[in-house]
Amino acid sequence: MPDAALHVLKTLRAAGHEALLAGGCVRDFLLGLHPKDHDIATSATPDQVVGLFPGARTVGAHFGVVIVRHVEDHVEVATFRTDGSYKDGRRPQTVSFSTAEEDARRRDFTINGIFRDPVEDRIIDYVGGREDLEARLLRAIGDAHRRFEEDRLRLLRAVRFAATLDFAIEPATWAAVRAHAGGIGDVSAERIRDELVKILLHPNRLRGFDLLVDSGLMAGVLPEILVLQGVEQPPQWHPEGDVYVHTRLMLSLLPEQASLPLILAVLLHDIAKPATFTRDADGRIRFNGHDKLGAEMSGEILRRLKFPNDVIEPVTGMVERHMTFKDVQKMRHSTLRRLMARPSFADELELHRVDCLGSNGLLDNHEFLVAKQAEFASEPLLPRWLVTGTDLVKAGWPPGPDLGRMLTAVQNAQLEGVVTTREEALAWLGRQTPRA
Ligand code: ATP
Ligand code: MG
Repeated sequence: MPDAALHVLKTLRAAGHEALLAGGCVRDFLLGLHPKDHDIATSATPDQVVGLFPGARTVGAHFGVVIVRHVEDHVEVATFRTDGSYKDGRRPQTVSFSTAEEDARRRDFTINGIFRDPVEDRIIDYVGGREDLEARLLRAIGDAHRRFEEDRLRLLRAVRFAATLDFAIEPATWAAVRAHAGGIGDVSAERIRDELVKILLHPNRLRGFDLLVDSGLMAGVLPEILVLQGVEQPPQWHPEGDVYVHTRLMLSLLPEQASLPLILAVLLHDIAKPATFTRDADGRIRFNGHDKLGAEMSGEILRRLKFPNDVIEPVTGMVERHMTFKDVQKMRHSTLRRLMARPSFADELELHRVDCLGSNGLLDNHEFLVAKQAEFASEPLLPRWLVTGTDLVKAGWPPGPDLGRMLTAVQNAQLEGVVTTREEALAWLGRQTPRA
């Protein structure tokens, strides 16, 4: 364990206070996992903690949390407390400092309520967390209904821990999650997003997805996913079933370490299929424009969940372009190179791969692109351009949107190998008629 945590713990003890490791680090230690951080719970009040560690910063003054810095590291020290009554389904109105046992009981799940004394190598467990860890069971501490009523974020935390640890959920806890799922809307979008991201980034994301749906939480978090259920698709392209089955199957086919934009693009790539569904007189099903509308809908959904632009932009781009992959073998050389040069190309290729494997299984376009990647590996996908915007202006092109289009046209001529030197490019330009 890190020096900082041990140093803080020993200093508190030497001053006559109780001090124990608490929460996630004890759970992870007992599971043989690598803890993210080492939180300390203590009988010392925040003032006493600050007195022992000058320069320590009180963060959640209300909750008695102090951040102590030590060398390059920092440790969170929280005074043992009991939470008062909850009013808004989010946070207690009051807290009062109390004992280790009461502090264990205000925590969410038994596996998160165990203390550890690393000096004497002792486990202090007031809530039966150790047995549940051994049984791989997620169980709310105390009355599950009350605990989810107090703080609705715990609903998503239940799904997150069950999925990331691959634990079963104890029946009374599960019944309470389902009973309170409708209240998830009381939680801020940012906190919902943070839990969702943790669930989706974990390799066990399929279980997390299923738990979100089965608990009823998906209806409050991403209701658009549920609308995919029962949306029929052309059986010759989609033998697997409806759009929901297809999307879920794709999720299961992603590599363990998939990026967040890729995972979100999988969930959202066909999100506009319900809205664009049509059936021709001969019975043929179409989803015209589901890519464009899907990109718009994805943007709205991700903005609603307060995702940052560096997530929203690649996802909407991937959704908007996912249908172009069926045409790659027919594309002009220049179009193909521009497609392959996009920053999100690796994720787009993977989206296309799982899209195929999650439906008809035809990977010819994927294989074509992998071969092209190898073919282009030794040279930059997009070469240094032979002419610039300045050259165009000198050649008599008026500044404006036409200039951009003309520049793309010369670059395409270069990518197609029609022009290979600057002189040829300028001559090619000269043959185009400048517009007034
Ligand atoms: P992680 O590995 O994701 O950090 P963690 O268990 O450490 O998991 P934190 O959010 O860091 O989770 O919280 C630390 C501890 O505080 C938890 O283990 C739990 O005991 C308690 N806790 C956190 N959030 C809540 C909550 N909403 N309700 C009750 N107790 C909570
Ligand atoms: Mg933690």
